[in-house]
Amino acid sequence: MTVVKDTGQRSVLPPFGEEHEELRQTVSRFVAKEIAPNVDEWETAREFPRDLYRRCAELGFLGLKYPEEYGGQGGDHLHDAIWVEELARSGGSGGVAAGLNAHASIAMPPIFNFGTEEQKQRWLVPGIAGEKIGALGITEPGAGSDVAGITTKAERVDGGYVVNGSKTFITNGVRADFLVCACKTTQEGGHGGISFLVLEREMPGYEVSRKLEKMGWHSSDTGELAFTDVAVPAENLLGEENGGFKLIMANFAWERLLMAIGAVGAMQRLIEITVAYALEREAFGRPIGKFQAIRHHVAEMATKAEAARALTYNALRLFHTGQDCIRDVSMAKLVTQRAVLEIADQSLQIHGGYGYMREYGIERAVRDARLGPIGGGTDEVMKEILGKQMGL
Ligand SMILES: Cc1cc2nc3c(=O)[nH]c(=O)nc-3n(C[C@H](O)[C@H](O)[C@H](O)COP(=O)(O)OP(=O)(O)OC[C@H]3O[C@@H](n4cnc5c(N)ncnc54)[C@H](O)[C@@H]3O)c2cc1C
Repeated sequence: MTVVKDTGQRSVLPPFGEEHEELRQTVSRFVAKEIAPNVDEWETAREFPRDLYRRCAELGFLGLKYPEEYGGQGGDHLHDAIWVEELARSGGSGGVAAGLNAHASIAMPPIFNFGTEEQKQRWLVPGIAGEKIGALGITEPGAGSDVAGITTKAERVDGGYVVNGSKTFITNGVRADFLVCACKTTQEGGHGGISFLVLEREMPGYEVSRKLEKMGWHSSDTGELAFTDVAVPAENLLGEENGGFKLIMANFAWERLLMAIGAVGAMQRLIEITVAYALEREAFGRPIGKFQAIRHHVAEMATKAEAARALTYNALRLFHTGQDCIRDVSMAKLVTQRAVLEIADQSLQIHGGYGYMREYGIERAVRDARLGPIGGGTDEVMKEILGKQMGL
């Protein structure tokens, strides 16, 4: 019997069509040639070069879903999803993906969706061109999951606001030129008094207090920021005053979906690497993949990945067609982030001692994957959302 090796790679699955294939191939070639070979060096340096934003912009990847009038490609979220999935599958670095996507898909969407024309010209256009780098600042030392508990204060003064407070765990926090920053604009607590201001690095009183050392995502910069009497002009208010919670919610769906899509790409990568290794590595005179225990590990990995992909693509299809998808996106985020962590761990087990060594990239996959159940809304928060959706 001839056995055809099938690692589960199916490039054309709904909601994607043949028309997306060319982009997938282009991204895959670019990432394999210009990102993957450099990842080890960037991980050691604890950052990737700033030039990478410009290079990705040059190829159109930072502006896939934005209109041509702003320098984008005029595509949609499906094009962006291909970029994110292939970046994870061919790149193998959570840090690089985080740095690029925190800019293009987390910091810029609120400016595109809620910004005035002038604001789009100031931050979106240079952002798509890779000339200015953005970050999204919501989390604070005292408030993560509890977004309504933020205390960074923006006090109304003549001509604008004075901002005092701090942010932490901000991806691109050290290098960002602009920060889409959640502030309290009322004395009362709760969701109602949050507004978004765009803070710029050169504003007096804006300080990067620390670059944080992390378990994974080493090639991304994660910063802690402090604001002392930062004068922010009124024209930097994004959307309506006290209407910031709507903006946060609008962003969360896409951020969580992106994390799910990235995990789908990462799982595919791990399965391909692991199957190749299991066929090559020999023990007791035969390839380890011929041992039942290893075959079953791989079968489990493939099944988990397939289930995670189906859930994610379904959520993506609902999101793309404008349907209510909070439930599906929350499920996809919850399932994929645990699945990729388990798959990375199984892959490490199959690689034995070599998996524990840095050069194979498997230990990095485990470390990078551990953030998934925490970032962008924890597992517990996803379960809360799902439980409440069911009327509990
Ligand atoms: C590497 C990295 C990059 C990040 N990038 C950004 C960024 O760019 N911008 C940004 O704004 N933030 C960013 N974050 C922050 C991230 O979104 C938060 O870490 C996350 O929202 C969780 O908040 P927390 O860490 O304060 O945990 P906490 O909210 O303190 O939670 C601690 C534990 O308590 C549980 N918990 C909390 N509330 C409940 C509840 N109601 N019910 C049950 N359990 C609960 C949590 O699930 C968790 O297990 C980043 C974080 C990391 C680590």
